[in-house]
Amino acid sequence: MKTIGLLGGTFDPIHLGHIRMAQAFKAQLTLDEMRLLPCHLPPHKATPARSSAQRLDMVRLALQALPELQVDARELLREQASYTIDTLAELREEQGSEVSLCWCVGMDSLVNLNRWHRWRELLDYGHLVVAARPGWSLPVEGEVADWLGRHRIEPQGLVERAAGGVVIAPLGLVDISSTQLREALSGRSLKAPLDWREQLPPTVYDYIEQQRLYR
Ligand code: ATP
Repeated sequence: MKTIGLLGGTFDPIHLGHIRMAQAFKAQLTLDEMRLLPCHLPPHKATPARSSAQRLDMVRLALQALPELQVDARELLREQASYTIDTLAELREEQGSEVSLCWCVGMDSLVNLNRWHRWRELLDYGHLVVAARPGWSLPVEGEVADWLGRHRIEPQGLVERAAGGVVIAPLGLVDISSTQLREALSGRSLKAPLDWREQLPPTVYDYIEQQRLYR
């Protein structure tokens, strides 16, 4: 079965954590496609000061040299908040029932999954694939943990069924977040990660300088 990986995010800014994660998901789970979907109005975060167009520009610049990853800008075309359930339903409609849709998130997103709009219905349209993220561990109690226990499958299941499973993928990832980068860029954090500049693709760093972002 064809498999499509989907990584939604604010990408404010996109960083190597996102890129490594997308590449690792694609390679280790042998996904046929991997798409990054910048969101328009993040339902769980304050509206970013960078415009949607600027965040999309940064994603495009970062992926220029990476033909294995694609941008899917559909959430920016919608006017209302970008709920994952709506995006997945739209993709399912487009792709038909014989394509496996794999919505990829970091562990921090899984922990807060019960705050997502219609979260239990996500598996009607696709799988959920979770990457370990430094500092976050698998929930062991509560409704997300119970739900996880009922729906967890092995990675192999992603090619056997179009939807319905949760996979916990043991990917070794970079410990960086957009929050840390915004702080480092604005010079506010004295404890900025040492090599923070290396956590940004050079084309994205140049764009940030050019547009005078995060000052
Ligand atoms: P912020 O610091 O602003 O919250 P972020 O770095 O978490 O941003 P988002 O654009 O919100 O970036 O993240 C999109 C997705 O990528 C989320 O599912 C998040 O869990 C995941 N993610 C981001 N950075 C990492 C990382 N370093 N390791 C694993 N997952 C990550």
